[in-house]
Amino acid sequence: MKPRPKFMQLPRSVLVGKNVLRRVNFVCDDLNLNGKCLVITGPNTYKIAGKKLCNILSKEHDIELEVINEASTSEVERIVRIVNKEGIKFIAGVGGGRVIDVAKLASKRTALEFLSIPTAASHDGIASSRASLKHNKWSVSKPARAPLGVIADTDIIQNAPYRLLASGCGDIISKYTAIKDWELSNKVNGEEISEYASALSLMTAKIIMDSSKLIRKKEEAGVRKVVKALISSGVAMSIAGSSRPGSGSEHKFSHALDTIAPSPALHGEQCGVGSIIMMYLHKSDWERIRTALRNIGAPTNAGELGIDGEYLINALVRAKDIRTSRYTILDEVNLTRKTAKETLKETGVIE
Ligand SMILES: [Zn+2]
Repeated sequence: MKPRPKFMQLPRSVLVGKNVLRRVNFVCDDLNLNGKCLVITGPNTYKIAGKKLCNILSKEHDIELEVINEASTSEVERIVRIVNKEGIKFIAGVGGGRVIDVAKLASKRTALEFLSIPTAASHDGIASSRASLKHNKWSVSKPARAPLGVIADTDIIQNAPYRLLASGCGDIISKYTAIKDWELSNKVNGEEISEYASALSLMTAKIIMDSSKLIRKKEEAGVRKVVKALISSGVAMSIAGSSRPGSGSEHKFSHALDTIAPSPALHGEQCGVGSIIMMYLHKSDWERIRTALRNIGAPTNAGELGIDGEYLINALVRAKDIRTSRYTILDEVNLTRKTAKETLKETGVIE
């Protein structure tokens, strides 16, 4: 089989602002999305935005509604069967990360376009072409399809719990270490690096760091900044054709926690704390990362994550075994239990 050519897959229409959900039919017209639409949503997000979306869409389209409970391969299979059976022409995912990831993968499998309509700004999958999925208890990152359109209604997102927004900021701030790892691999292994993708990713992290106090005010202007950063970060990954600009050692640490901790924290919360640790291992300004997370009100230690220190030590030791093809600072330092514990103490993550 010939290798797949590398290309940038980007969203074509992006609408961010107050009460923009009501413009969904306009966006469909603009993107030439016609025929029957499958609306995918979650049980809670249906009440928050799914129902309203169905009411608006059904004025101009036939719709089919599906509520999903998790982002798993079996849910994607189920959605693909519905698409084929019901003669669906396009998909709209309205909800959190799980909903959008399932919509994204179902869209790739069926070669149908999809609209990404996030109800919270908690992670950078809103506009990216990658999805993470639960498979045999492990979370795996898979290539998917970037949304053709993104509708981010800041009224809805502002009403979501603040913890979700703070988590989104953690995911963005963690790009600092993702880029450091990419640069390291470029230096050590000659891995190709996209200067445009890395510059864009760093810029989004900087904007969120600089706006930390504004974001804490929980006003619409701050929410809009976070949403735009999450979309830009997804675009950076599309430019690179991989999640490299958005995911390094700190993401490995978060994935390790997802499998080790009995009740993990949110993805962006774990990545934010991971970024403090990895910045320390990179011998760089880790305190700056911690201050920004504190200003935002995101967790910076085990207590705030609600995870016992023992799990953090184990996750930090095991993080380098996750996705071993991706070279990061963890491959340089080769942490033992003892040095992992010292690192967590030095950075104030555990006492
Ligand atoms: Zn992430």
